[in-house]
Parts: sequence; C-alpha cells; structure tokens
Amino acid sequence: MRLGLLGGTFNPIHFGHLRAAEEIREKIRLDRITFIPSALPPHKKVEPPITVADRLEMVRRAVAGNPFFEVSEIEIRRPGLSYTVETLRHFQRSAGAETELFFIVGMDAFLEINTWESYKELFQLSHFVVLERPGTPHALEKFLADNISPDYRPDNEKRRYLHHELRAVFFQAVTSLDISSTKIRDLVKEGCSIRYLVPRVVEEYIINKGLYK
Ligand code: ATP
Ligand code: MG
Repeated sequence: MRLGLLGGTFNPIHFGHLRAAEEIREKIRLDRITFIPSALPPHKKVEPPITVADRLEMVRRAVAGNPFFEVSEIEIRRPGLSYTVETLRHFQRSAGAETELFFIVGMDAFLEINTWESYKELFQLSHFVVLERPGTPHALEKFLADNISPDYRPDNEKRRYLHHELRAVFFQAVTSLDISSTKIRDLVKEGCSIRYLVPRVVEEYIINKGLYK
C-alpha cells in the first residue's frame, strides 16, 4: 500500500489542494490520499469564529466524491499542538509494515521544515513529495544537503532524491493554481465571489454559515 498524507489548516480547503492531491496520486501511483486537518497549527493562528469542526466538515464535503480520498481526525483529536512527527509515527504504527507513507507538502512549507519539531526523524518515517508552488524558487537539492543530510542523491531526472538510510524525497510539479486559503478568506471578507476556486459544496457551506465575513 502506498498511502499519501496531506496535512494542512484547510481554512478552507480549495481546488489548489484537491487538484495537487489528484495529480500526485496519479504521478506517484498512490493507492489513497488521507487529508489531515490540523487542530492547532504551531505556525499559524486560526481566527475565530471558524472552528475545527467547520474546517473538518469542509474537507469532508470536498473529498466526499473521490473514492481515493479520505479524511483523518488524528490531529484534531489529539490534545495540544499538531506536530507532524507524531502524526507520521501514528500512521507508521497503524498502517503496518507493508504500507509506505508519502507525506505531501507544498514547497513553501517544505523549505521551513527545519523549524518543525524533530524534523530529522520525519525523514526516517515517511517519503516526502514536495509540490512545486507558484512563486517559490526550486532550491531543493541545496536545502536537503544543508538541512537534512548531505547524502541525498538525485536520480537521473532529478525528480527524486534518494538516500541510503532515509526515505526518498520526490519533487513533483503540479498544475499551478494560484489559490490559497488566505485569498479565499480575503475574497469573502471583501464580499467577492469564490466560485470556481473552491468546490461548490465548500462555497455553499461558507455562505450558509457566514464564515470569514
Ligand atoms: P494559507 O493561505 O492559510 O496559508 P494554504 O492555501 O497555504 O493556506 P494550507 O492548509 O496551509 O493552505 O496548505 C496545506 C498544504 O497544501 C501545504 O503543504 C501547502 O503548501 C499546500 N498548498 C496550498 N495551496 C496550494 C496550491 N494552490 N497548490 C499546491 N499546493 C498547495
Ligand atoms: Mg499556507
């Protein structure tokens, strides 16, 4: 089993997340992708009145039609801060030895991974799939050497960096959709349309509950 994991605040989930997940599933040949909304992101504040339940429900509705996508409440149920290292330990334990984990992360987030809790252990627990994101320069090779290990070696096409002890790091371009949750929240606040940036069910949820106004 090849299991993709996509963590995020999902405040709210949008087509940038969904399309990236779909393309990665095909390109890296993953069997499933689990979306993992974070409870209390160490790096950001989630402003009230948006609740964890709202973010979770929007992810649920957004992925409902895709048989390869599912949602995990692991970070939401765990008390305290959401640390990726604990999440990966959890999935490694629960998924079993035959399952390979692929943690999917945007380039912007990946280039800050050296600030994450126990970040070196992450590379023992899971492969990484780093998404190219509009506006972020490619500095992956040097970043890996400087921060994780000098022993990562690119394969021929530089699509994948391999290591004799640690898990692989994949570098994967996906269709550039210049959409962010910040942009969605700003548009709603300004009274503008978010149609075609988020799934219809997410748009309706935001409008019906009066979120982000
Ligand atoms: P915010 O604007 O609040 O930071 P966001 O849109 O970046 O939100 P997150 O929940 O922080 O959304 O993102 C979760 C993961 O999805 C991160 O790894 C992020 O890099 C990635 N991601 C977010 N938007 C896109 C996009 N448009 N294309 C590809 N990846 C994305
Ligand atoms: Mg972000």
